Amino acid sequence: MLKKSHNRYAENWVDIAFEVKQSADWKCSKCNLQCIPPGDSTKGLSRSERMALTLTVHHKNFTPEDNRLDNLCAVCTSCHLLYHCRRKGNISPGQLSLWKELGINY
Ligand SMILES: [Zn+2]
Ligand SMILES: [Zn+2]
Repeated sequence: MLKKSHNRYAENWVDIAFEVKQSADWKCSKCNLQCIPPGDSTKGLSRSERMALTLTVHHKNFTPEDNRLDNLCAVCTSCHLLYHCRRKGNISPGQLSLWKELGINY
């Protein structure tokens, strides 16, 4: 592992996350939902529809520093929320820190 930064996320997190999603074929590993790969047109979809079809990367051990591939899995937004809701109990979809983890930037 490289030098630790004050940011909990690795600098190349976006690249790592992309690799994980790519190798999952842009499908949720939990419910098998086919999500939208980047570059695909989302015209005509509402914000919440796009959100629902966004693939995200989850840290199985809830440790964002741990970017070993076997700690990562690609899941859709709603499955990802379930993992975190179950754990913390009170995450609302509007919670920004979670969206940051999810890699959602819109
Ligand atoms: Zn899912
Ligand atoms: Zn997660």
